[in-house]
Amino acid sequence: MVPGASYHVQMTDSPHIHLGSLLRASEDAHAEGTLDHLRYEQGGQMQTLTFAEPAPYDVDVNALDGHEMYLQGSFEPTLTMECARCLRPVDVPLEITLGTLMRYEPSADAPYLEEAESGEEVLVFGNPDLDLSAYLAETTLLAAPLSVLHDPACKGLCQVCGHDLNDGPCEHMAQVPVEEIDDDLGIPEGSAHAKQTPFASLADLKLPED
Ligand SMILES: [Zn+2]
Ligand SMILES: [Zn+2]
Repeated sequence: MVPGASYHVQMTDSPHIHLGSLLRASEDAHAEGTLDHLRYEQGGQMQTLTFAEPAPYDVDVNALDGHEMYLQGSFEPTLTMECARCLRPVDVPLEITLGTLMRYEPSADAPYLEEAESGEEVLVFGNPDLDLSAYLAETTLLAAPLSVLHDPACKGLCQVCGHDLNDGPCEHMAQVPVEEIDDDLGIPEGSAHAKQTPFASLADLKLPED
């Protein structure tokens, strides 16, 4: 980041796209901006996904038939995850191509993703001033890798004393040879990070409190 850069003034608080003209007159809608975080509701709780650097998004929505439309665009967030072996922060840049069917249902309260009979996901919304926060957050979580290493050769932490073995050996090195690290999981056995869902690994993200 360039010191003194004025990106903050352009920062969008939450990404909205206005679909009123599209619904009335089939006019295509467009929205773009930059996000340093997303706040969205999940299971009745507000969640915050914070990005390591301003994340550009660019979204077009085109009318299809009736109340259906198609959203396409791009979103490039950089997540800060933990190295699965040594837990140091790792920036993970994602380049996400967006492409999602949408359906307008006036009765829909908050926008949600629904699986269509075709197996395709459909973004259902009821407010023509559509808040894309939850959609972009869910798309980001699905695109994130299950686990990352800060370096493919990361030596991990000593399982006895927690010493970062990348900084050099500790007195327990002889008892816990590096070869015993389970390479299928990419993490030392018994680590609290041995969870295998994207949400579990993302739950370990260090997110600053608002
Ligand atoms: Zn590491
Ligand atoms: Zn040790």
